[in-house]
Amino acid sequence: MQPLFLKPVFKERIWGGNSLATEFGYDIPTDYTGECWAISAHPNGPSIIENGPFAGMTLDELWTKQPELFGKPNEEVFPLLTKILDANADLSVQVHPDDEYAKIHENGELGKTECWYILDCKEGVDMILGHNAKTKDELIQQTNEGKWNGLLRRVKIKPGDFFYVPSGTIHALCAGTLVLETQQSSDTTYRVYDYDRKDSEGNLRDLHLEKAIDVTTISHQETGVTPIVEERENATVTTFVESDFFSVYKWTINGKATFSSADRYLLVSVILGDGALVHAGERYPLKKGTHFILPVGTGEFELEGNAEFIVSHN
Ligand code: ZN
Repeated sequence: MQPLFLKPVFKERIWGGNSLATEFGYDIPTDYTGECWAISAHPNGPSIIENGPFAGMTLDELWTKQPELFGKPNEEVFPLLTKILDANADLSVQVHPDDEYAKIHENGELGKTECWYILDCKEGVDMILGHNAKTKDELIQQTNEGKWNGLLRRVKIKPGDFFYVPSGTIHALCAGTLVLETQQSSDTTYRVYDYDRKDSEGNLRDLHLEKAIDVTTISHQETGVTPIVEERENATVTTFVESDFFSVYKWTINGKATFSSADRYLLVSVILGDGALVHAGERYPLKKGTHFILPVGTGEFELEGNAEFIVSHN
């Protein structure tokens, strides 16, 4: 079992910037690059395996053709998607459906529960998370009247914060935010409000208010996360969330730390520093911006260096 290193896919967005180049050294297409799909098997942007016997295959192909790498799962599609988002402008205010709604209304897509680790942000930046309506009527009325300031809840963010965003939560990243997102493998978004922005041709972007109101959780449910921190030899393991959809951790390594993973596959992203992964006598160099999967049956491995990782599994 070898680790699977992945080549990211980049997406231009009107709210994107160039931080994926300046912070991560990626070769991005333009200065409006908003998303790095780092670990993806989604048809809208699958990652390509870079090393070993499966080099050149896409992650979705591998999922179908080599299911033993993933423990012969029952799921039809690779369930997770890891992205890095560079919000250089405000993103539209949006909400995602759950599995049940997406299955019926979006051709069998998965729903989208997501979570964010704040890699970096401007001082004093907000994030939009949730709303203040107490009933569906109130949500419809305030939306129709454009009473966004009263309706939308804002929270202050800082680097290192973690937010769990279940499907049905109205949310938006604001300008000046760099985030690692772990989400269900879905590309379904219902736009609620786009700040009345017009594109270069003077057009407003489409809103999806009816579906958005259908899927929004009313009233807003707090989803605050209390990280659990565990000190190990040369490593700190922070557990952010263990949910039905995914579990997400931060591993901080100072020196050489030993880990083990037997019966799950792990998605790993290097978010700071550099070092190496040592497994089965092989040494794989790691640097900020490297992403890999450790297949089922990996067993014991070592991480060396001074580095931080976001690790997830389903
Ligand atoms: Zn979202």
